[in-house]
Amino acid sequence: MKRQSIRKALILVSFILFPVTLYYFSPYLIIEALLQNVIAGSFIVFGLMLLTSIVFGRVFCGWLCPAGGLQEAATIINDKRSKFNKGKLIKYLIWFPWVSAIVFLSWMAKVRLRIDFFYQTWYGISISDPYGFIVYFAVVFLVMILALIYGRRGFCHTVCWMAPFMQAGQWIQRKIRSPHLHLVTEPSGCISCQVCTKHCPMSLPVMELVSKGNIEDMDCILCCACADSCPKKIITLKLK
Ligand code: SF4
Ligand code: SF4
Repeated sequence: MKRQSIRKALILVSFILFPVTLYYFSPYLIIEALLQNVIAGSFIVFGLMLLTSIVFGRVFCGWLCPAGGLQEAATIINDKRSKFNKGKLIKYLIWFPWVSAIVFLSWMAKVRLRIDFFYQTWYGISISDPYGFIVYFAVVFLVMILALIYGRRGFCHTVCWMAPFMQAGQWIQRKIRSPHLHLVTEPSGCISCQVCTKHCPMSLPVMELVSKGNIEDMDCILCCACADSCPKKIITLKLK
């Protein structure tokens, strides 16, 4: 449980710092900057998410995402398991046209592109004027309302524009079969108590996955809540 305390503290600090970091996760600024031939901070951050996820999967979502911190706080009000099958599609309907626009604008700008990591920030801080505050509260409202309506991590399942980058990284990892961080289990030790399933913030059917001997799932955020709650300690995190 010590690991979960550290994880929750990290993700909460990330949410507290969200007024500083907001523009580095902005789906809008990346486009606005590209129209001016600029590679903004969010372009670099999203690119790093894709690359690092080839090895580390969705660790960012489980341990560092500010929206994750807010959604875990929202479980105080709604801790229901999320029923997200329809919501998943919305996420990709938003993501594909948006990423296509990014690729197109990058290709159009080509050699004229220059990097400005702190684009539209004030000394690197995102929220420095009233407009920034409005954007901040709008994003916080969106994340919160989806978590309250759809249950645990409702925003991650429905509209998160960052998750598909990491799922693309996981897809690449599966194609090239490179070493990566993932959960491993020993199904024969399972007593079918369902505790792991109950604790999963992504509402995955963990016990079923354990019984199949493979807990790898594109929606797993490697938070280790299942591993830390399992009374038989048969779920472990491995890099291999
Ligand atoms: S399966 Fe385990 S590690 Fe993955 S999201 Fe669920 S609780 Fe976290
Ligand atoms: S918590 Fe452990 S023992 Fe219980 S169902 Fe999950 S894997 Fe099996």
